[in-house]
Amino acid sequence: MDVEKTLSIIKPDAVKNGYIGEILSRFEKNNLNIVAIKMISLTAQQAQNFYSVHKNQPFFVDLVTFMCSGPVVVQVLEGIDAVAVNRKLMGATDPKKADSGTIRGDFAESIDANAVHGSDSLENASEEISFFFADSEISILS
Ligand code: GDP
Repeated sequence: MDVEKTLSIIKPDAVKNGYIGEILSRFEKNNLNIVAIKMISLTAQQAQNFYSVHKNQPFFVDLVTFMCSGPVVVQVLEGIDAVAVNRKLMGATDPKKADSGTIRGDFAESIDANAVHGSDSLENASEEISFFFADSEISILS
């Protein structure tokens, strides 16, 4: 049980639908501290680079278009087993398969507009955090 950092994004659908506060509250209630946060609008280039692992998938263009369709809120979450805890809170990628009580089960609209992104491994978390934040932008909570 290690203290980890992970990257979370509140996607454009959840921002538009007014769920920023409720989603951030779920992190805090589950011992994931918010140690960096910002609201930004992704450029197409940023979205393509961020999701480059999916560049050959049929849904890639839709995914990039969606991620640029409105502002997102990007945060670094810190806590014990943060990567796995956040993935559990998020629920399944497809909201139709996500359990009620998970963020996607409760707030997502579709597999494209699925409310949140969360890093899926510690290695990816480190890369994704660096994609959005300089070390100097991440707080040290003690
Ligand atoms: P995640 O880690 O649960 O977000 O899922 P992935 O990393 O596998 O996929 C990234 C994002 O691409 C997902 O959150 C979805 O928005 C989208 N996506 C993944 N699989 C599909 C799919 O089969 N169809 C569509 N339309 N979008 C998908």
